[in-house]
Order: sequence, then structure tokens, then C-alpha cells
Amino acid sequence: MQFCPKCGALMLPKQIEDRPILVCNTCGHATKTAKLEEYKIVKPAKQKEMIAVIEKGAKPALPTARTKCPKCGHGEAYWWLRQTRAADEATTRFYRCAKCGHTWREYT
Ligand SMILES: [Zn+2]
Ligand SMILES: [Zn+2]
Repeated sequence: MQFCPKCGALMLPKQIEDRPILVCNTCGHATKTAKLEEYKIVKPAKQKEMIAVIEKGAKPALPTARTKCPKCGHGEAYWWLRQTRAADEATTRFYRCAKCGHTWREYT
């Protein structure tokens, strides 16, 4: 239900050339049924697709080796290599105990 903006009387819907309009019964003021047109045009906004985030596991992506932890004696440790910039220096292999997290290094 809509009221005339000019005189405040009730607007009556009329169909003119396949376009519904509202015409004031008292003063003849006509207005397009903008609201109805908006409902036809406006489509529900598509939600932006969420970018799938690949969650990595909490466990470190490091290989494990069977070695004895010097701290707790556990037999498995993660290991990784770190090459020093100096060519004459040996590659350092690091171990991290899978149980207690103790980290030590070993020259290969
Ligand atoms: Zn009116
Ligand atoms: Zn340990």
C-alpha cells in the first residue's frame, strides 16, 4: 500500500503498457512502481566463493630418522639439513626429538 506524495491519498495500481504504475485517486499523480521493478531486476547477490584454504597438519612436515635423543633417549627424531654458505664447511644435519623436542645437530 502506497500513499500519494503530493496529497497523501491512497495510490491505486494501474496497468499501462504492461508497466504497472500507481495513480493517485484524488489528484491524479502517477508514479512508477519502482519497488516492484527493483524486485524484478535485483537478484540475490552471489556470495563470493570462499578461497579454499588447505590447512596443513600440526605436525611438522619433516622426515623422521631413527636416532637416539641424547636428552631423553627417545629413538625417533625429525631431521633437516642446513647447508652453510661456506663451501668448505660441512652440511649440518639437525635433529629434533619427536618426544621431548630437544634439538641437536650432527656434522655429516
Ligand atoms: Zn494525490
Ligand atoms: Zn628427546
